[in-house]
Amino acid sequence: MSGRPEGASKSNAADPGSASGDAVRGNAGDAVSAPSPSADGALTLGILGATVDGIAHDILVAGGRIVELAPAGSGERRLPDAAVRVDGDGRAALPGLMNAHTHTAMALLRGYADDMPLMAWLQDKIWPLEARLSEEDVYWGARLGCLEMIRTGTTFFNDMYWHFQGTARAAEDSGMRARIGSVILDQGDAQSVAAMRAGVLEDVTSVARYGPRVQASLAPHAVYTVGEESLRWVAEQAEALDLPVHIHLSETAGEVADCVAVHGVRPPAWLDALGLLGPRLLAAHCVHLDAEEVALLAERGVNALHNPVSNLKLSSGGPMPYRALREAGARVLVGTDGAASNNNLDLFEELKFAALMAKHATGDPTTLSAEEALALVTKDAAEAFGVDGGTIAAGRVADLILVDLDHPTLFPNHDLAADLVFAANGRAVSHTICDGRVLMSDGIIQDEAEIRAEVRTRLAHLLAN
Ligand SMILES: [Zn+2]
Repeated sequence: MSGRPEGASKSNAADPGSASGDAVRGNAGDAVSAPSPSADGALTLGILGATVDGIAHDILVAGGRIVELAPAGSGERRLPDAAVRVDGDGRAALPGLMNAHTHTAMALLRGYADDMPLMAWLQDKIWPLEARLSEEDVYWGARLGCLEMIRTGTTFFNDMYWHFQGTARAAEDSGMRARIGSVILDQGDAQSVAAMRAGVLEDVTSVARYGPRVQASLAPHAVYTVGEESLRWVAEQAEALDLPVHIHLSETAGEVADCVAVHGVRPPAWLDALGLLGPRLLAAHCVHLDAEEVALLAERGVNALHNPVSNLKLSSGGPMPYRALREAGARVLVGTDGAASNNNLDLFEELKFAALMAKHATGDPTTLSAEEALALVTKDAAEAFGVDGGTIAAGRVADLILVDLDHPTLFPNHDLAADLVFAANGRAVSHTICDGRVLMSDGIIQDEAEIRAEVRTRLAHLLAN
């Protein structure tokens, strides 16, 4: 991808509102995508003069769908007065990025505990503070995380965190698309396990209240925190409710050794024995995989979620075997993990780490090209999560972003894909649009001041108690 049109005048846009619509099915379960037709089919948004694959277009949107990519200059006169106009001149349009693994509300904990080993980090710092979080704290933490993702060009996130309803409501209110995992952890007696399961079922069945942009998954935390009986229960429920299963898998050598000690097999074989290793599974990290496990994950159609920055920061013990997974035919997606172990939610930065890590691990600089990296967070992720997007084309959902081609990291525009992955970060994004609604316009996001103020107040209270 390359090229830019001349001129760079900018204009403002506002929120045209959204509606509801159909859903499409994805490999990891039910639909996230929810095109939202305008009530009368009228055009609601025009992105005028933005380049798509190097050619300037007017992107015409009705409700939540892209209707047409018209030649630049031909679209504006077709827009009704009420339609929102975004000046795309000097900008490239890209599909909105999709974050395949995060804990959005952990934006609250950014910089709270760093430079520690994973288990000490979790047990001494993260879990004690998390135990004090209310649903409302999680809501505001997730709003903060959404704010950062919108600012850096992400329109979808796949989440796992406490207080499902807090994050689901935050996704809905922020205007993003999301797959929210209801966390499953075995702790306490049989009564508390039963209550946990009832809560999980309540979460995933009540998600419809948030509208079609927000969908649910079952999220057993990991093989070391969820026992056999609960994992079997998850497998049954996933089948019965047709839901994806989001888990952390083979993140550390310790996890693998413990699994062998307790169950006699490594984590992928353990999940396979319980009926969980399949196309529904969204498996984060996948660092410690041997050749047999790479083949098994590919054969079962598991989605491997790559979190390179978190793996490096927590020293999880080496790179995910990216090339081996791809060569075996596995689908690999990319996520930031939470802001407490990254420490940002910028997918552009994550792609750079993913690409550099894969090149370094293989000693082959042709591994994980810039084009391939971008596909991991657009086209491939859209397929995996059942979003009818991941590309800018007529009929697809209007989830897209604009990057400023005059931004120092994108100039002088030899190769847009290489610039985006190796030079740029989310600061090059000027506009973020999801479901046909402009969530960020020229760097302005509604509610930003309110979200910051609320987070400050809540953190002051949490840390004082
Ligand atoms: Zn994680």
